[in-house]
Amino acid sequence: MQWHIGEACNLKCLHCYQESHTPIQLEYDQLLSILNQYRQLLKKLDVKGHINLTGGEPLCSPHFYKLLEEFKKDSDLYSFSILTNGTLITPEVAEKISSYNPEYVQVSLEGGKRTNDYIRGKGVYKKVGKAIDSLKKFGIFVSISFTATKINCKEFPKVVKFAKKHKVDNVWSDRFIPLGDEKDVELIMDSKETAAYLKLMQAERFKLMQKHSKTRISMYRALQFIFTNDYPYQCTAGDSLLTVMENGDLVPCRRMPIVVGNLLSEDMYELYMNSPTLKMLREDTTPEDCKGCEHETFCKGGLKCLTYALYKDLNHKDVGCTDALYE
Ligand code: SF4
Ligand code: SF4
Repeated sequence: MQWHIGEACNLKCLHCYQESHTPIQLEYDQLLSILNQYRQLLKKLDVKGHINLTGGEPLCSPHFYKLLEEFKKDSDLYSFSILTNGTLITPEVAEKISSYNPEYVQVSLEGGKRTNDYIRGKGVYKKVGKAIDSLKKFGIFVSISFTATKINCKEFPKVVKFAKKHKVDNVWSDRFIPLGDEKDVELIMDSKETAAYLKLMQAERFKLMQKHSKTRISMYRALQFIFTNDYPYQCTAGDSLLTVMENGDLVPCRRMPIVVGNLLSEDMYELYMNSPTLKMLREDTTPEDCKGCEHETFCKGGLKCLTYALYKDLNHKDVGCTDALYE
């Protein structure tokens, strides 16, 4: 479960999905009720879970540490990670977070200093470096998330260089999904840029492996398997992935914002079992134009949220899946 515990954020990034001017923040009792629903869902399904705690900026929520206290009681039931912009992580904060034993902390970076600070705000690049140093000092596994757009897709090597310098454990990247403003569509990479970006990722990954670097680049997202010969990525939205928005809305994935109910008045387990949208996502959603592809049983059309954002239905193969990938 990805859980957006509050909408407040201390930054105003260029391509941010949060457009609201009055940030939503549920009361603690309401958040606790959502957590109880998640606990029940895991128990009823008899599975171990994982929570990605995020925002807004999760550290801006007044309930952040109270929720971590709850998570501490449930370590047998689920693990958790924190997705943050990193700018509020001081050495004291990192030490406090480490006492709750997160599986990892993910910090966002959008390129080299100039590009990152153009997208995320002046001085953010430096703050992220300091945050990572603090997190590493307290033994926390750190992942960097890089969202690739038309603007920054060539800057992946700069992100890797930064990651190595700060002893980051893992670098993760995926393509940008336009969810807000209509002009955001202009930030999507075209098929040639997508192919070049994925090849760049693989080249950087290979270099790190050759040098036996402790920093790794994970390439398990949509279409990335084509370069690693690993198992294809499969969209998990509505299946092993659910997302709870700041107002309690339940959606299959943050990047596929189809509201299936609201957890302030409906029950997570009931929605999971009975929502027509979630049921449809758990069925075979392989698009017609993927039929016959050797990867169709796993990949099933690639980055479904990008398809949904562009066409408002799922019956199209990943727009990045073109011959350019194989050239
Ligand atoms: S493909 Fe998109 S919608 Fe599906 S799980 Fe991945 S990010 Fe979410
Ligand atoms: S054709 Fe469809 S199933 Fe095959 S790799 Fe491309 S997106 Fe995936």
